[in-house]
Amino acid sequence: MTHKLKKPSFDFYSFLAVVLVILLVPFFIFAIVFDRTFFIFISVGLAIIVLYLFFLHWRMGEKGAEISLQLQNLEERRNLMGAEILKEKRVIESFREKIVRYRELKGLTERLNLCLSLHDTSTTISQEVNTLFGRNDRTIILYLFHSKTGELGISASHKGEMRVNIKSKKGDVFDQWVARTMQPLLVEDARTDYRFDIDRVVAEEPRLLRSVMAIPLVVGRKALGILRIDSPHEKDFMTEDLRFLTIIADLGAVAIENAQLYEHVEQLAIKDSLTGLYLRRHLLERLLLETSHQLRGKGQLSFLMLDLDRFKQYNDRFGHVAGDIVLRTIGKLLISFFQRQGDLVCRYGGEEFSVLLLDCLKTKALELAEGIRQKIAEETIVLRREKTHITVSIGVAAVPVDAVNPRELIHKADAALYQAKERGRNQVCAA
Ligand code: GH3
Ligand code: MG
Ligand code: MG
Repeated sequence: MTHKLKKPSFDFYSFLAVVLVILLVPFFIFAIVFDRTFFIFISVGLAIIVLYLFFLHWRMGEKGAEISLQLQNLEERRNLMGAEILKEKRVIESFREKIVRYRELKGLTERLNLCLSLHDTSTTISQEVNTLFGRNDRTIILYLFHSKTGELGISASHKGEMRVNIKSKKGDVFDQWVARTMQPLLVEDARTDYRFDIDRVVAEEPRLLRSVMAIPLVVGRKALGILRIDSPHEKDFMTEDLRFLTIIADLGAVAIENAQLYEHVEQLAIKDSLTGLYLRRHLLERLLLETSHQLRGKGQLSFLMLDLDRFKQYNDRFGHVAGDIVLRTIGKLLISFFQRQGDLVCRYGGEEFSVLLLDCLKTKALELAEGIRQKIAEETIVLRREKTHITVSIGVAAVPVDAVNPRELIHKADAALYQAKERGRNQVCAA
């Protein structure tokens, strides 16, 4: 708002002059013609009054201009204060948003702390991103690098409240860009982003993609995976969103690394370091669980106990290190032979191995035992440039035909194994 200065105008002066002349001229005429003194006195008085009025008007104009200037200053100050208040309001609003986000991050950290397995951790991260950024048309994917092959693989995904089927299981051009550069990626419109070939994107993934945010999951210098969210609308994500997703990705990366370490330690506790096979403790736990399941159901569970023949002699001849190579070779042969779901191969102890076969009749187990016996006998193991062979004796027992609990089952298989040894080794015996 602005105020104009009210200075006496030219028209106003002219008007006053005219009025003065009109009023004074008759008085002067009267004064000259009749009573000079009286009329001169009146006309001078009138002139003074008019001049005083003129002076008052001029003063008022001056005052008005002064007030108008003050008003202008006040208006300016009010505008400045208004702008200041608006700025403060914005700062308060952004603080409020930050507090909400910090609270969300605190919640995420707490939830991640409760996750031990990699599966739980991945699902929690994906769900959390879905809660914070999710919409029915946005897709959230968490990729992890395979520890051995180094390839990307989907660990968890969400689309709104649903899980989603993604065609490019090993990541598309955007994920590959992040995997290559290890930098956060923000694509506002995939059609106009010169870094990517949109035809390739469409060919790889039939889902409509316009906006993409993807962040590498990194701990120290170790790349663990990629956290990504995409949308079918252009300019759907802002830099602020990318920043927030980066914080989530950083927290998630630490949680994923912890879960991977935890699973690794867990594996170390239940797996033998020499052969990579499960240890006896794990076998006993599974046997307890599976025998009770099996007894409630109608199927059969079979159990094989294997022992290397005259392994002591082998060790004495080639040395302990060579003996370890043999044990490792037998472990690999067993794993590649018993690949059905429900097969559990263990290193029972020393040079003894066991195999648990779920839903497997004893007759079938005997066939399999004979198969692996032959395979091991035929295997050539080269030690110190010498071709060597080893054989195994196997005892087979089953639930419920031979035993109804793990202790009895192991005892029966062991007795059958002893029989195989007694009969001359390199053979299979049934309980
Ligand atoms: P049998 O045919 O009667 O089973 O004869 P064996 O010599 O295999 O049986 P024995 O129980 O007399 O010997 C088992 C040998 O297995 C003794 C031990 O040195 C060896 N052994 C046990 N564990 C390991 C291991 O981890 N590494 C190596 N190299 N040898 C092992
Ligand atoms: Mg033995
Ligand atoms: Mg032996």
